[in-house]
Amino acid sequence: MTEHIAEHWLDNAPYTGTSARTADVTNPATGKVSGQVRLASAADAEAVIAAAKRAVPGWATTSLAKRVKVLFRFRELLAARKDELAAIITAEHGKVLDDAVGEVSRGLEVVEFACGVPHLVKGEFSEQVSGGIDTHSKRQPLGVVAVISPFNFPAMVPMWFFPLAIATGNTVVLKPSEKDPGAALWIARLWREAGLPDGVFNVLQGDKEAVDTLLDSPDVQAVSFVGSTPIARYVNERAAASGKRVQALGGAKNHMVVLPDADLDLVADAAVNAAFGSAGERCMAVSVLVAVGPCADDVIGAIGARVASLRVGDGTLGCDMGPLVTREHRDRVAAYVDAGVAEGAKLVIDGRDLRVEDRPDGFWLGPTLFDHVTPEMTVYTDEIFGPVLSVVRVDTYEAALALVNANEYGNGAVLFTRDGGAARRFEFEVTAGMVGINVPVPVPTAYYAFGGWKSSLFGDTHAHGMEGVRFFTRAKVVTTRWTTPPTSLTLAFPTND
Ligand code: NAD
Repeated sequence: MTEHIAEHWLDNAPYTGTSARTADVTNPATGKVSGQVRLASAADAEAVIAAAKRAVPGWATTSLAKRVKVLFRFRELLAARKDELAAIITAEHGKVLDDAVGEVSRGLEVVEFACGVPHLVKGEFSEQVSGGIDTHSKRQPLGVVAVISPFNFPAMVPMWFFPLAIATGNTVVLKPSEKDPGAALWIARLWREAGLPDGVFNVLQGDKEAVDTLLDSPDVQAVSFVGSTPIARYVNERAAASGKRVQALGGAKNHMVVLPDADLDLVADAAVNAAFGSAGERCMAVSVLVAVGPCADDVIGAIGARVASLRVGDGTLGCDMGPLVTREHRDRVAAYVDAGVAEGAKLVIDGRDLRVEDRPDGFWLGPTLFDHVTPEMTVYTDEIFGPVLSVVRVDTYEAALALVNANEYGNGAVLFTRDGGAARRFEFEVTAGMVGINVPVPVPTAYYAFGGWKSSLFGDTHAHGMEGVRFFTRAKVVTTRWTTPPTSLTLAFPTND
């Protein structure tokens, strides 16, 4: 065990706080404790929020030109040093290095989008809306905003929010997952190097106590949350109860519908990538493959052949798939596999007994494939968040669509086909926020918004894109008169006639 402790970050420096509580941080590939993370008390959280509040007047009035210079410097530093951040992610989360670099690259896209903030916050102007009267609109920052993030993307998910929040003149308190707190601190140091003033980007380490303090604080104006659906629902309700603006992104059960005319190799490659990449710990992972008509046996055979060649192991050693994030989570996923067997699904590939040479204590569970899954089974109903793919067989497109649309979640849904008419129909009819046509993980690029429907998102606004700009700003419309026309006293409602 090392002595390393992930501290809070306040006014561009580490902050220890007063809480005596800490949690272990583990390396999932070795199973060893690699350090600790502080778990904030309410007083610690209030100290971090207070730092963010002190920075609001200065940052909100910093010119767009100066804000953009800092963002550009941050962008350059991040692009040059993304391997350093990826190494931290792999050490604490377990995903393989390539995947971690990919995560940072997708976050970087949002930073690049935020560099265009002067264009994004431009208002409108209407001359002469009435005699001698003009009207213009503007968007202004909110103040302190909280970002509460999950373990599975410790860099990318926070970057869905904080670049735009900072670019639009807000100050940020980031509460990362206590399972992998290191990425947030590395990012905080990078902001300092880029010249961001004290208090604009802060990190609060902790668990429910930290989150609840953020949700209740009168000094926090908005909350961007990403995590499991029960916690997203709770965060949405508690933050809204104290009048905050909130966007709470929740869990997922993403379906991949395969029509009989689809390209079999494309389908098999896509299914393996989307189901087992990052050990299935992605909110856009495909966890259900809906095989329509006679293609199921061929699809299962092609997936099996590819899985046989996957290398599962330590993410620093060039493998395809790493471990699960904690032992507890690994055992939870294994219990779902046990339940699938008990409920009568056919276990085609069983990852439960996987052993990795030289890493006997890692949190391993290999790619797992079920066939003949039905909608009542827990492997179908629950978000497992592991490398478990369930195949459901149906006879028609209509039955596949009905299954997807009846599901509680609506994050992503994808269709594989060569039929343009079927694809167009699916795009229109499916009840999910992000749709892929022959694309297995349809994560929108930064200038579009990311977000699901149904129990995958609470609140009105999705992440990044113009929705992100709107979330972190509030609109004001100003009506002006600079001439001195003849006036007369009237209590009538003003019209523009
Ligand atoms: P989680 O809900 O356990 O934790 C998310 C955050 O909430 C963490 O910062 C955690 O400290 C905090 N938290 C946990 N329990 C809490 C409680 N009782 N009260 C207040 N705060 C609490 O999620 P996770 O396990 O870290 O991440 C995996 C989940 O996130 C999956 O469900 C996945 O689908 C979801 N996710 C969704 C998206 C999306 O875009 N919709 C993206 C990534 C992850």
